[in-house]
Amino acid sequence: MGTGDNNIKEGGNRELFANYQYQRLNMEEYVRDFKKALSRFGEADSIEGKNKALQEINRLRGEFGAMKTIAFIRHSQDVEDEYYSQENDFFYGAAREHEELISEHYRALLSTEFREELQEQWGEQLFELARQSRSTFAPEVADDLQEESRLAGEYMNIMARARVRFAGRERNIMELNPYLESPERATRKKAHAALTRILAQNEEQLDQLFHNLVGVRHRIARELGFDNFLGLGYARLGRSDYTPAMVADFREQVQQHITPLIVELRARQARRLGLDSLKYYDEDIKFSGGNAVPRGGPAEIIASSRIMYREMSRESGEFFQFMEENGLLDLEDRDNKAKMGYCATIPGYRVPFVFATFNGTSYDVGVMTHELGHAFQAYCSRDFSIPEYIDATAEVSEIHALTMELMAWPWLHLFFGEDADKYRFASLTDAINLGLPIGVMGDEFQQWIYENPAARPEERKEAWREIEKKYWPYKDYDGNEFLEQGGWWLKFVHFFQFPLYLIDYSLAQICAFQFFGKSREDYPQAWADYVSFCKAGGSASFSRLLQKVGLQSPFEPGCVAGAIRPVVSWLEEVDEKDW
Ligand code: ZN
Repeated sequence: MGTGDNNIKEGGNRELFANYQYQRLNMEEYVRDFKKALSRFGEADSIEGKNKALQEINRLRGEFGAMKTIAFIRHSQDVEDEYYSQENDFFYGAAREHEELISEHYRALLSTEFREELQEQWGEQLFELARQSRSTFAPEVADDLQEESRLAGEYMNIMARARVRFAGRERNIMELNPYLESPERATRKKAHAALTRILAQNEEQLDQLFHNLVGVRHRIARELGFDNFLGLGYARLGRSDYTPAMVADFREQVQQHITPLIVELRARQARRLGLDSLKYYDEDIKFSGGNAVPRGGPAEIIASSRIMYREMSRESGEFFQFMEENGLLDLEDRDNKAKMGYCATIPGYRVPFVFATFNGTSYDVGVMTHELGHAFQAYCSRDFSIPEYIDATAEVSEIHALTMELMAWPWLHLFFGEDADKYRFASLTDAINLGLPIGVMGDEFQQWIYENPAARPEERKEAWREIEKKYWPYKDYDGNEFLEQGGWWLKFVHFFQFPLYLIDYSLAQICAFQFFGKSREDYPQAWADYVSFCKAGGSASFSRLLQKVGLQSPFEPGCVAGAIRPVVSWLEEVDEKDW
């Protein structure tokens, strides 16, 4: 795929993120320039002319994206800073207008008489993404889209206001967290009951909110010509080469090969903890001796990461140096920093930025591998002049991140010393016990929800509980009525705010396990394949990208069983007697 020169700043030059110029866009001028570029694209009567206009459109998009992302990052770096708080709001407000311009741009791309030549040059994926994006919008649904995003945001508001009385005072969900993992069984049982009470106290309101969301999503989908929300949801996520039916087959593979493994791992956990039976409030306690804790503070973790990325390969060493030299890492906790972790690509500059608030637990190492995995991919594919190819669709992006977590295995002793295996074990079992099945269960649930948009809240809960029993047959709610009746899913923002998104993690995990298997046999080859995969960014569909590096598609029969084999053999051999 071609590379271009439409970036504001050429790659390779050094410039600290802190010195990036920020300026609020004059939207009137911006819209005018964008429309001018669109007419130039329409009027051009040669492929050169089309490309020149396309370049101008992408340059403008880079300008908008850069300012929007810089405002967002600086706002998260100091949520008390009023200037960037306002600038961040400004871009939220401008987003819809910008999306309409992009939609116009896509319409022009799809209908140009030079489509074949352009497709030849830039690849099919751009046109496929444009086609899908166009199918998700029409002026008739504009009001409903606004209503959908208002309702989706309501979930966070309800949960942020929610309080429950626990250990002598009113507490919010965040404040319950430390008690949920208390070494005292009685304490964590009470804390889990309190968490359930928060959900139960807001049950009616959450049910109504979700019911309204399903209603509006169904309405939008029908108006746009889809049977139900599933088709629209897939198009929104840019899923072009698989269908809900194929995902259903994948779920079956998971139930067949992962569920028995989960049952076995949970039994092993009960034995390790010396419990007769594992109750739902015991599940977060992995070891009686506590979790692996990284040695040293943030400075040591960053220093170990520097060694790891330098030893891993030339590309990763250069990448980490680039991130440090350009001030693209903000990891230590400070007052006023947003409590979140993310990797954001800054369009225009074409650089990734990693943000986290280190807390001294293994989470910090997770950031250095997972978020840096996202960043490594953005760094590898920064030369694409088509902005759509720098960021990939979600299931592909998670492969970049989850694989980096596993490629980091040979260096984990730098962070954990002799506890490295304990950390490896914890992260693998979390992926198997939680990440994989939750994605699959969430998907099965949502397929049912959107195929039955008129279902009542009780029916939804019954459906959820049935699905839980299928993938987590060992689950013991110890008489907790709310959970027995299928209320657990209300805890997940995904169902409200990011519909159909959860399965991306499960698909990506199976692909990351394939990279893991390769790395156990031939690390340099696995690494080379991983780099090619990252370099391809989002330039092709999910299955095509997998094909390019010889990974099996999770939709192929036998894929899950094969991917899990090296994982199972590691889990069987590890020595857990002192944990
Ligand atoms: Zn991620």
